[in-house]
Formats: sequence, C-alpha cells, structure tokens
Amino acid sequence: MANGGDRRADVDGDRLWRRHTEMAELGATQKGGVNRAALTPADVEARARLAGWARDRGFTVEIDAYGNQFMRRPGAADAPAIASGSHSDTQPTGGRFDGISGVLSAVEALEAIDDAGIVTDRPLEAVIWNNEEGTRFSPTNLGSAVYVGAAPVDVMLAATDRDGVTMRSAVQTLREAVPWAGPRELGAPMAAFVESHIEQGPELEAEGLDIGIVTAIQGTRKLDVEVVGDEAHAGTTPERMRRDAFVDAVRIATALRELFHDPDDIMRFTIGRFEVSPGALAVVPGRVFFTVDIRHPDNATLARLGDRIEPVCRRAASRCDVRVAETRRADSTPFEGAVPEAIETAVRERGYSYKHMPSGAGHDARYVSEICPSGMVFVPCERGLSHNERENATPEDIARGAQIVADTLLILDERLP
Ligand SMILES: [Zn+2]
Repeated sequence: MANGGDRRADVDGDRLWRRHTEMAELGATQKGGVNRAALTPADVEARARLAGWARDRGFTVEIDAYGNQFMRRPGAADAPAIASGSHSDTQPTGGRFDGISGVLSAVEALEAIDDAGIVTDRPLEAVIWNNEEGTRFSPTNLGSAVYVGAAPVDVMLAATDRDGVTMRSAVQTLREAVPWAGPRELGAPMAAFVESHIEQGPELEAEGLDIGIVTAIQGTRKLDVEVVGDEAHAGTTPERMRRDAFVDAVRIATALRELFHDPDDIMRFTIGRFEVSPGALAVVPGRVFFTVDIRHPDNATLARLGDRIEPVCRRAASRCDVRVAETRRADSTPFEGAVPEAIETAVRERGYSYKHMPSGAGHDARYVSEICPSGMVFVPCERGLSHNERENATPEDIARGAQIVADTLLILDERLP
C-alpha cells in the first residue's frame, strides 16, 4: 500500500464472524438479541475470552482503575499506542453488534497484522471501554469519559447497581477473571484512536455503500417549553374569550417545525414529550408542557437556530404565556486531521464505496478525541435497527470495517510523527 508502506495485512473474515457468533451467546436473549450490562457475569466472560485470545498471541493485557481493558501488540518503539476499540456492554434488549463489533474488529486488525508478520513502529492496542451504555450503575458514566478525566473516577467507582454492588467491586471481579492483566494508569497517553461501529442508522444500506467515514458526533440542545393559558368550561366559554394552551402549543409546534425544516435533511428536530393539563374531556387546557430536542453536526447552525426557539415560540403564541428553558447543551465533536484522512486513504486503496457522514448517536470516540487524534468508521446495519434485538449486519460488511481498521492503524503508524 502506497501510504501504509508496502505492508499489507488482510483480515480473516471467517474468524471475525465466528467470534461475533461466539460473543452473541454471552447474554443471549430469547429473541436473538443480547443483554450484557457492564461487568455482569456475561460481560466479564466476554472480557476474559478477549483477553485470552490476546494472551495466546503474546499480546499484553492491562486493566485500569475503572475497568477499561487494553490489549497491546508491542511495537519497535516504546511509545504511546495507536488504538482501536469500542465497548462490550449492551442495552437490556440490545443486539449482537453495537459495541462488541468495534472491539472484535480491533482485535482482528491486530491479529491480521500479527499474521502478516509486520513490525510496527508504535505499539497497537485493542481497547474495551467499560460501561458505554450506562444502564447498570447510577450515577453512570462512560469508561472513556473516566479515562480522559471528563468524569471523576472516585464518584464513578462508588456508583451502585440495583443490588447495591459498586462499580469498584465489579471492576475487582473483572480483575479476578483476568488475574494476569497488568495495571494501566487512567489518562495514559495514546497516539491516535479509531473506533469502528455499526451505523445505527439506515443511510449506508439504503445507498448501497460499504463504509461511512464519520465527520463529527453531532451536537445537541434540549429545551422545555411551557405554554400557560386559562382553564375554562368547555361548554360555556366562547372561543373569543379562551386562552387555550393546547391551541397555542400546536401553533408553536408548527412554527418550530418550519424553523427546523432542512432541505438537506441534516437537522434533527423532535418533540418527544407533550403533556396537556388538566387533560380532562370538558376542560379548556390551561397548560401544555413539551420538550424540544435538536441535533446538528455544525455548532454554528445549532447555536443560530437554537437561539431562535424562544422568539419563535413567543411570536407563534396568540393568547397564552410561554416559558422556554434550556436543559442541556453539548457541542458537536468534529473528527478532523490524521485519523479520518488515514481512514479515507485506506478505503480508497481497498476500492470500497463510501461517504462522509456525521454520527447521530454518541460514542466513546467523542471522549477519546479529548486526548488524541480520533476518528470513526461506520459499517452498514440492516434497516438501521439498533438498540434492538433484531440488530443485524452482514459478515462481508463487518469484515470490510475490520479491514479498514487494520489498514488505518498501519497508515497512522507510517504517518504519525
Ligand atoms: Zn455503541
């Protein structure tokens, strides 16, 4: 390969698919999905098997204080590693690919490079970020966030599940299952990070494309809107004298829908909750509460349109009072520079079809990008179904994703200073 030197490592698609099948048995549900919350027996078993495969190859395994797991193939130089990975935990009614596919692709990439006998300059690592789905422990946070210092480790280790088990003791259980794993310091530097993940959306499959190169994890703003009028008798109050909160809320919702209409279909606008009070058949509604969730990969667009929500709500209301409160705001995380450039080189050299696209969902790479150049590879998934037991992807698509991870690691090893 021109940009990865003359080094070429082809992944073993059969081995990769077998391991997907094997992992899907750990926490398997009746409907063909997976229920594998962080550091439950099924997750610990998955972690131990992955660590075992790494050890069989002579790779080293390290586990940090929060239970993130690192499987390392040494390089010629003792330098920060070029890493790839994702998470092994799932939603309670999750699928066979979300998360674990990125872990298995990273392990396959390291093994393919090992099979090819390539000596890299930097060490290469396959990473399992702990607790990405965050369904078991409260308060919860992503292992990647804890690793980069975006969440306080002591508070997160004290988090408990419904049975009172702390994250600290769950991490200890993992250590006991992989007793030969060494320690790893939280925040230890990485040279670069690439995460492979199923798209969790329908676009790649619909467009018949092999790979998505992720440009950004889109930003979001979430707001509460309250419309306040007057409750009145539905039979005796003439229309001209009503302050009907539902009528104004509908006008507002329509105006917001127009505000966020995007001919390019990139903006995401959702009213997911809509409550009418008092909610009685014969009472003119005196109050409506609803939520607004907007998402966009461009922070300037998110800022400009998000700031128009309140004035548009006020203008659209004819008789009622309107209160707007922002409850959450998170900027978009762009992926630029060395990693997406290496991914694009890899995809072009393999002759795969691809497009650049933002990620609608959050991922570990968002946090890892705070400490090193990062990027993401998306693999098509059937009908875009995810966080769903019917989540599915083809062996061919999965193998292409892992191939791009392997090639990207080698290209980065050539290009990084
Ligand atoms: Zn995921």
